[in-house]
Amino acid sequence: MNETTVAAISTPNAPGGIGIIRISGSEALSITDRVFRPVSGAKLAGSPGYRAYFGSVEYGGEKIDEAVCLVFRAPNSYTGEDVAEINCHGGLYITKQVLRAVLEAGAEPAGPGEFTKRAFLNGKRDLASAESVMAFISASGKEAAAAALNTMDGKLSGRIAACRDRITGVCASLSAWVDYPDEEIEEISADEIRRTFTEVRAELEEIIHRYDSGKAFTQGVDTVIVGKPNVGKSAVMNMLSGYDRSIVTDIAGTTRDVVEERITLGGIILNVADTAGMRETENIVENIGVNLAEKRLSRASLVLAVFDGSSPLTDEDRAVAGKCRDKIKIALLNKSDLPSAAEREEIKKEFDNVIEISALTGEGFPELEKTVSKLLSAGDFDPNSACLTGERQRACCLEAVRHLEEGIAALDGGMTLDAVNVCADCAVDSLLELTGEKATDTVVNEIFSRFCVGK
Ligand code: GDP
Repeated sequence: MNETTVAAISTPNAPGGIGIIRISGSEALSITDRVFRPVSGAKLAGSPGYRAYFGSVEYGGEKIDEAVCLVFRAPNSYTGEDVAEINCHGGLYITKQVLRAVLEAGAEPAGPGEFTKRAFLNGKRDLASAESVMAFISASGKEAAAAALNTMDGKLSGRIAACRDRITGVCASLSAWVDYPDEEIEEISADEIRRTFTEVRAELEEIIHRYDSGKAFTQGVDTVIVGKPNVGKSAVMNMLSGYDRSIVTDIAGTTRDVVEERITLGGIILNVADTAGMRETENIVENIGVNLAEKRLSRASLVLAVFDGSSPLTDEDRAVAGKCRDKIKIALLNKSDLPSAAEREEIKKEFDNVIEISALTGEGFPELEKTVSKLLSAGDFDPNSACLTGERQRACCLEAVRHLEEGIAALDGGMTLDAVNVCADCAVDSLLELTGEKATDTVVNEIFSRFCVGK
């Protein structure tokens, strides 16, 4: 149990109907008693918990707000400690004033992710589940949220624990046999060990595969909008993001930097970058933009190539089309609200998917949505199964797979069971690191430092 009592504003740093100041630790209720007066005259320190108290918040001897305070008792709270949550009015000034009052009454400011970190340290959640809290908060789509929620609920941890138990079973038999050679312990057969290792490896590989194929839903697909100047790239970006993110003008070469936006299209998250128009140019600044555009194009997983459908294709258009070869791509014949003039058939030779759109009127947008979801459908991604959240967990799984493979190789090479046992131990350690039972302080601190303050 942590010694200090910490407090932070748990709601976003923006005006809202309600703002919540969360206080957690052994002194949470007595500290809150110093700033919050329930109208009933009750003392929170004497509260049995799971009650809401209406009252006033006081600071410097003055009432500064009316609020409702929720009380939770250890260990049945989010952090596993005594927790008070003051629900005051959600103004930026007032939430900060209430927090200041609480800090002056004896609480310390909570660090990033400190409440969830305490939940982990107090055994309320394992590390995988704690990490998924952040993934859940930042989920931008239904599938990403469902996947994170399942991990939060412990689905992944349950599946990892089952894998771990199977390897631990092998370790136990091996250790007994290695450590007590004189005892009548039945020797575990190499075939049995091989079968267990192979099955667990397949299970872990499947978890990794699901994570990889689900990235379109959980992390986003790197997408780039390319095209020669003035075809309407910025207008397409604005249509996708739903507001004026990029500058739209009829002056060629306006977008020089790369403008980025995270959007959800057809249930899939796209990390979209609008780039400078691709053309030969003497202008140094514009040229830097063009080079950046080409770099983006080379590492993008999806290319939206924009052409002006209202004018004939030019060599610049053909050069853009040529650069998109070997990519997953969609040609957007923009300006469909104007009379058509571009040679559709020529574009079709380079692009399997050609969509007529108007960034101005939104025409063609539903077809674009359908095509994106067809091209990037994440196959067997099932957000309701056990999902990894993030590269750290994936790396732990991969490590475990690698140790199991070494174990199988050791068996095949006729090495001693001692050596096999070491591989099994290492595989178990990797899985314990995933769920946090064996994660170092540095790893734990690094994970929670990525959280926001107040969570
Ligand atoms: P970019 O240089 O490719 O980013 O092109 P912009 O998005 O800045 O657009 C260039 C010009 O085309 C602007 O004057 C836009 O208003 C116009 N434009 C863009 N999309 C459409 C469209 O769908 N229909 C029509 N009629 N004009 C468009």
